[in-house]
Amino acid sequence: MSGPAPIIIRTGVPRVRAAFTTRAGGTSTAPRASLNLGAATGDHPGHVRANRTRLAGALGFDPVRAVALRQVHGSAVYMADGHGGRDSFTGAADGVADADAAATGHPGIALAVMGADCPMVLAWSADGSRVAAAHAGWRGLVAGVLEAAIAAIADDDDVGGVRAAVGPHIGPCCYPVGDDVRAVLADRFGPGVLRGAAVDLGACCEVALTGAGVPRDRIAHIGGCTACEEGLFFSYRRDGGETGRQAGIIWIEEDA
Ligand SMILES: [Zn+2]
Repeated sequence: MSGPAPIIIRTGVPRVRAAFTTRAGGTSTAPRASLNLGAATGDHPGHVRANRTRLAGALGFDPVRAVALRQVHGSAVYMADGHGGRDSFTGAADGVADADAAATGHPGIALAVMGADCPMVLAWSADGSRVAAAHAGWRGLVAGVLEAAIAAIADDDDVGGVRAAVGPHIGPCCYPVGDDVRAVLADRFGPGVLRGAAVDLGACCEVALTGAGVPRDRIAHIGGCTACEEGLFFSYRRDGGETGRQAGIIWIEEDA
């Protein structure tokens, strides 16, 4: 059986490792086949734990110290100390805190955020001493989760060196929303994020990140539409809510 096939991000900093997962290489069965990493999805907890352990092995991070969150579409940032996620990733696996972002300056602590259409954004400081991960659905974006995540790893003096990667998310091709949501997002991020009846969440992320001080040329968009690419990604909207979760993961490697 083939293992997980995550999309590895070139961070440009030797010790910072980052990846976005695909649905390949896990143990969960349809409609969550197969690398479902989300705990609150109706999947068997044993499958989620096995998938998370398998991913940690494939990428080479410590699953016991990895951070998993209870995502609530807010703007709170969990600041992970050297103990990391306190076995929230593969232990009880119910999340260490109610938060949609995590940040750390401690090597060896992997930060994981999950999504099934929402953008996941990974960010790291120029010298690789601090990293952050955020789940950035439209509510979290409006609440300011990306601005909060960037503020957690950089101040005004060094935010210009921060790099960020916006992971696969539902594209404007598949994301028509109601007039009320369009109005809120256009008001917050400008009319340029609208695509007819749809919204470009990647564009919202870019406005938020640049507004927080990250230079546009330091923001990478991984691309891909979670709804269009059924073989690669879970999509809440495509699958009517019965689906799994992919993850964005970032960490600072410990000295060998
Ligand atoms: Zn699409």
